[in-house]
Amino acid sequence: MNFISTRDLNDVVSSAEAIIKGLSNSGGLYVPEEFPDFSNELKILQGFKYEELALKISKAFFLDLGEENLKNCVREAYEEKFDVELKNNFLELYHGPTAAFKDAALLFLPQLMKIAKEKLNINEDIVILTATSGDTGKAALEGFKNIEGIKVIVFYPKNGVSTVQEYQMLTQEGGNLSVVSIDGNFDDSQTGVKKIFSDKNFIEALNKEGILLSSANSINIGRLIPQIVYYFYGYFKLVNNNKIENGEKINVAVPTGNFGNILAAYYAKKMGLPIDKFICASNENNVLTDFINTNKYNKNRELILTESPSMDILVSSNLERLLFEISDRDDICIKNFMDKLNEEGAYEISSKMKNNMSDFYGYSANQKEVYSEIKRIFNEKEYLIDTHTAVASVAYSKYVNQSSDKKEVLIVSTASPFKFVRSIVNALEIDENNNNDFKYLEKLASYTNLKIPQGLKNLKDKEIKHDINCSKDGIKEAILKILGSK
Ligand SMILES: *Cc1c(COP(=O)(O)O)cnc(C)c1O
Repeated sequence: MNFISTRDLNDVVSSAEAIIKGLSNSGGLYVPEEFPDFSNELKILQGFKYEELALKISKAFFLDLGEENLKNCVREAYEEKFDVELKNNFLELYHGPTAAFKDAALLFLPQLMKIAKEKLNINEDIVILTATSGDTGKAALEGFKNIEGIKVIVFYPKNGVSTVQEYQMLTQEGGNLSVVSIDGNFDDSQTGVKKIFSDKNFIEALNKEGILLSSANSINIGRLIPQIVYYFYGYFKLVNNNKIENGEKINVAVPTGNFGNILAAYYAKKMGLPIDKFICASNENNVLTDFINTNKYNKNRELILTESPSMDILVSSNLERLLFEISDRDDICIKNFMDKLNEEGAYEISSKMKNNMSDFYGYSANQKEVYSEIKRIFNEKEYLIDTHTAVASVAYSKYVNQSSDKKEVLIVSTASPFKFVRSIVNALEIDENNNNDFKYLEKLASYTNLKIPQGLKNLKDKEIKHDINCSKDGIKEAILKILGSK
């Protein structure tokens, strides 16, 4: 299978190249030339373990990396490190080292990159630049820790992540890893990092020093494909729990930021998984809700810092891949939209394109709704969800109220509630004003009878290893400084 750029159909690369490059030369994203069809294999796949499904799906896209290699990838990535559970229709994807769903992809991507690098005979050091709104950064750091020949620099918005998230990153061990805080919001960091990738002079200068730049953001196709796996796995959990017949359609509700997670569900549907509706859930940064309801994408608004910070995004990069499909793969049209987005901050899709995404529904939830949802579900079901998952849960209720659609649903649960402990404590109204997130962890554990995830325990006693800060225009200098000193 080859991969093509959303902005240039003539830009065709192997999976190894797509994984190493991240972004195409024209600034487009790589997408599979075609989608494999599993619709006749659903009966067989029903009995597969997570790792078996991961192998099956990665083989369908990345077979040119070698079957044995992919087997090793899956084992190294997931064995005894990652697990998915289904509880009350919530698909819990956060049972990994960093307690958020990004582990599913970021445990796998480094393994793919290692092989891709060998396949392409790349002897240079690869430097991965990642802009994070909190969860990607830590997951990338964990995934790439001590992987030879690859360095990682993570940029996060200084005041845009939770205390637990910040501590998780700043205490990260591993000689190949750096963490930088940016004075700005997530869009500033993402835009800043994207600019570096289109700065030809800078990239050439680094190449001369034996350094190749790459990305671990969800724009990398090597991150997206592993996310398809848990939709198949979750679907079969519903089948195996006798909630649905194999072949019956379900809906999915996804807390959405950069549009990677929900796009993976869309890809799963293209591969034959019986998904009917996609409920795209946003917080107060409801650009996608507006887009789905008006056909117009408009990022010209203030970014609001919410209590679901991993969704505080105004430019959802992976939407470009959906636009590509619903425009019937019209690269010129996509380039046009993306130029408009760059220049005017907005674009509007045609009604034909809109028709091609009629299975998408957009709803948003504000903080008050999120708090009362967390409390309601805990009181009614003794089940605790985090703030991101609560956004999806509210959106799903709004969808059901409007549509009366009672199909089974997978509500994607993206983070452990302990990761956003301050918000959860506030939502449950068990705050004693002691104002210390680490005390709250213990408080929440005893109140709910839940265990603090392994990766979040003892966080406050760990040594801080990173202290670099830069302005939103100082990203290049920060990179040079880090690379010069290592
Ligand atoms: C990243 C993230 C999201 C958003 O996922 P996208 O793929 O960017 O849409 C939602 N919830 C949590 C906890 C996350 O870390």
